[in-house]
Amino acid sequence: MAQFAVIGLGRFGSACALELMKTGHSVLGVDTNPKLVNKYADQLSRAVIADVTDRQALEELGLDNYDVVLVAIGADIEACLVCVVHLKSFGVPTIWAKATSHAQHLILAKIGVNRIIHPEEEMGIRVAQMLSYPMVNDYITLGNGDYIVEVTASENMNGQTIKDVLREQMDDVQVLLVKRRGQTTTQPNADFALHAKDLLILLGQLQALRTAAPKLV
Ligand code: ADP
Repeated sequence: MAQFAVIGLGRFGSACALELMKTGHSVLGVDTNPKLVNKYADQLSRAVIADVTDRQALEELGLDNYDVVLVAIGADIEACLVCVVHLKSFGVPTIWAKATSHAQHLILAKIGVNRIIHPEEEMGIRVAQMLSYPMVNDYITLGNGDYIVEVTASENMNGQTIKDVLREQMDDVQVLLVKRRGQTTTQPNADFALHAKDLLILLGQLQALRTAAPKLV
């Protein structure tokens, strides 16, 4: 279990904080807004009202003991930057921050933020990619054109083997696993017979997946 702190409990920060709690981590949430802190107090490990531009208030939170601090302050760029400068001076090991502009990104990178997130742009790209490939439930980019994608087998797949379906793509697309009603089969062989609604996790180059994924639906 990792310890996370999320600074700024707006839409983005609170969504991250709640999801981290769901995945079994310990999360401290911080915001200046008492209404937000009260709203999430029962759902987070700890929730504190504090102005993170106030060095002393921030120091009292002991954030250097956390694995990652996520600075999720939106519009107030100055508050975000001042907070990161303080966190750096306390020796917080890993800092992630949300950026709302190119200039903010440049400064955050310069002061040593480990990962800078642009939620609107990143989500926009994801949504566009999902719209282009609606048969794909979800995907991960591995770089160099490699992707892992999740596809749900359609009714037409009932009883067909992986080999029957993938044919020419057998060499280019690997079926990493098939999940059927909670049961997982890892690296199923080519004669594995599919059922409708099986979840398949495929690995391959985008081009090969573009041909293979639609065959499963
Ligand atoms: P979102 O788009 O994710 O909703 P917001 O800008 O609305 O982003 O949310 C940012 C949150 O950060 C707000 O809840 C705000 O109260 C909080 N915040 C802003 N400045 C500070 C600060 N100095 N200290 C702590 N929290 C802050």
